[in-house]
Amino acid sequence: METKLQLPLPPVVAALLRTLQAAGHQAFVVGGCVRDSLLGRAPEDWDICTSAQPGEVEALFQGRRLLLNGKKHGTVAVVEGGKSWEITTFRCDGAYSDGRHPDAVRFVPDVRQDLARRDFTVNAMAWSPAAGLVDPFGGQADLRAGVLRCVGDPNARFAEDALRVLRAPRFAAQLGFALEPGTAAAARRCRGGVALVSPERIFTELDKLLAGAQAGRVLAQYGEILAGALPEILPCIGCTQPSRWHCYDVWQHTAVAVGAVEAHALAQTLTGHGDARGARVLRWAALLHDLGKPACRTEDADGTAHFPGHNQRGGRMAREILLRLRAPASLTEGAAALVAVHDAPLPAADADILRLLHRRGAVFLRRLCQLKLADLAAHAQNAAVTARWQEVTQFAARMETLAADGCYRLDRLAVNGGDVLAAGLRPGPAVGQALDILLNAVMDGTLPNERTALLAALQRGFL
Ligand code: ATP
Ligand code: MG
Repeated sequence: METKLQLPLPPVVAALLRTLQAAGHQAFVVGGCVRDSLLGRAPEDWDICTSAQPGEVEALFQGRRLLLNGKKHGTVAVVEGGKSWEITTFRCDGAYSDGRHPDAVRFVPDVRQDLARRDFTVNAMAWSPAAGLVDPFGGQADLRAGVLRCVGDPNARFAEDALRVLRAPRFAAQLGFALEPGTAAAARRCRGGVALVSPERIFTELDKLLAGAQAGRVLAQYGEILAGALPEILPCIGCTQPSRWHCYDVWQHTAVAVGAVEAHALAQTLTGHGDARGARVLRWAALLHDLGKPACRTEDADGTAHFPGHNQRGGRMAREILLRLRAPASLTEGAAALVAVHDAPLPAADADILRLLHRRGAVFLRRLCQLKLADLAAHAQNAAVTARWQEVTQFAARMETLAADGCYRLDRLAVNGGDVLAAGLRPGPAVGQALDILLNAVMDGTLPNERTALLAALQRGFL
């Protein structure tokens, strides 16, 4: 049954549909924009599909700015309002002999054939003002039930294109949906195919998943599927941890830690400090922070597990994984550096905190505190864990105070290079060395950060 319901189309899209229809073609909005509109969410982009052949679309919009690089595959894009609006001829895909790309596309006359090539029922709906909703696979019912279900046989669909194996948990995390059991089982079975997918596309799916409102639950539920992208996950599943600190195995712990990044508003803390990139770095660091544990696991005489060296090993693995996925360099370096020290103790003395600020900077330390809190939120809740939580929050508070007005950078030192030269040092590397020595003395508390005291120290030959 097709229902007549209204979708709020952007005026450009409504006009494109009208032009196509006025020329005697069928035209619909299709896929993600229909799904998101029915959910009451603002769509990322609007895709149009039509019975018109690509050449007909091109002719119809002659005189407009067009992008024709996708024409062979049926897509003509009209540029308007600084955006490009894709119009794709109804098509079905040929065989997928490489598990990635259809060997050929074939243009077809019926929108239902076009919908049949799409991945999930909730993505396989089309709508137009004239025809209403076209929903041959029960997408609307699955949308209401919060279910992601493959169109057709899930094993065949995942075998055709293994990117879908990752799109399933990605949409589950974004939309808060569950995978229909047959779809989940097939995704687990077909996860090996993800090795054929380009690293950039794997990265994009994982990145969107991690930013999803239900990332933690999806990681917990679908770890085996995600192991298609990150085989390092498998040994974490069932890797037990000492009950004094932990109530989860390494993978469940990881999933809860990723969830805590959102739930505890930790990421927002970073954004609030102007660290707009920090939230993403934090999500990836939480995902990767304990992947080094299985390889480092030892047991002492009474059977208690220990993970010596898992910080550094995890840091190396994080870097390898993000390089492998061609992640942006700032993300790779940022996340790997956090993982490499995530479990190291934090100092309490001002001199040590100032030295850390000097070496790492406030942005890094703030991210580290947030990672530690997400990590601790995924521990057993007992007095020992609460004490660790308090250590982190106390460090964070003191660190912020010192970051605001403490002297841990040369530009905050009460003397500068000119003063050192005036005190008689010869120009050259000795000037920088003298300033470093003074800065260290100030951080240690052996000298106050006062101009007269520092100049006097220079005169005394303190250096
Ligand atoms: P979003 O843009 O929010 O990530 P989307 O559903 O719009 O989600 P796109 O990648 O933009 O996803 O694709 C648009 C539509 O094309 C999808 O809704 C789906 O119908 C179809 N589609 C995309 N990728 C695939 C795929 N790998 N296999 C089958 N159909 C796909
Ligand atoms: Mg889209």
